[in-house]
Amino acid sequence: MSKFIDIKGVRHAYRTKNGPLPVLDGLDIEVPEGTFCAVVGPSGCGKSTLTRLISGLMKPDTGAVVLAGEEVASPRKTVGMAFQNPVMLEWRTILQNVMLPLEIVAPRMPRAEAEARAAHLLDMVGLKGFEGKKPSELSGGMRQRASLCRALVHRPQVLIMDEPFGALDNFTREDLWQTMRDLRAAEPFTCVLITHDLRESVFLGDQVVVLSGRPARTQYVLDVDLPADRRIDILYEPKAGEMLHLL
Ligand code: ADP
Ligand code: MG
Repeated sequence: MSKFIDIKGVRHAYRTKNGPLPVLDGLDIEVPEGTFCAVVGPSGCGKSTLTRLISGLMKPDTGAVVLAGEEVASPRKTVGMAFQNPVMLEWRTILQNVMLPLEIVAPRMPRAEAEARAAHLLDMVGLKGFEGKKPSELSGGMRQRASLCRALVHRPQVLIMDEPFGALDNFTREDLWQTMRDLRAAEPFTCVLITHDLRESVFLGDQVVVLSGRPARTQYVLDVDLPADRRIDILYEPKAGEMLHLL
């Protein structure tokens, strides 16, 4: 399978008033098209920095980030992003929030078509009937579902999620894992998920990339080969010792 995202020998340091702060030191990640890459690593190891590199918000000092055969050099509209605390526009309804990327990326799309696309995704994630609500009328889990719809509405080349489920309770989080899998089954997309939840990484990822060290580098790449119909209850809970071994 072709490498859809190809991160080669990436090194990066932030320029701070105390001099350069090396953050990434030898990052290598290959994500085949349509697959799901989960990236795990301790806090502060450069995971969010990696999302900025893939979305083109930053350029690495050395090495390259190649997306669909092109080196990423500037911010891209073809990347969908989801974060831990989704920012929703309170004066807009949920449907209007989800439609927002279409207004930017496809301004000439007829309104009815944009609405239908947004409503279809909201239905897929279990938010049918909530289209007209305001963001503050939804629970945290529901807002995160809506933010996933917003990230996918314009069919981005790649969906990047930076600890999207980190602020949710365990039950809501595991529900969202299943939703994520349902979305992928319905319309395939390439995905990079940043998380520090190893169970989440194994449940969702086709591969798990483990970053560690200061500055951080790719330590392991685990291929996850669980059956396609794997469900949460067959997941095993890694023991603390194994976690330490991995991280
Ligand atoms: P993670 O998401 O894994 O927690 P980050 O990528 O956010 O890690 O940050 C990695 C390191 O880079 C941290 O030490 C952080 O303090 C530092 N850092 C992040 N962004 C900046 C910035 N804009 N300027 C300077 N240092 C930064
Ligand atoms: Mg982060």
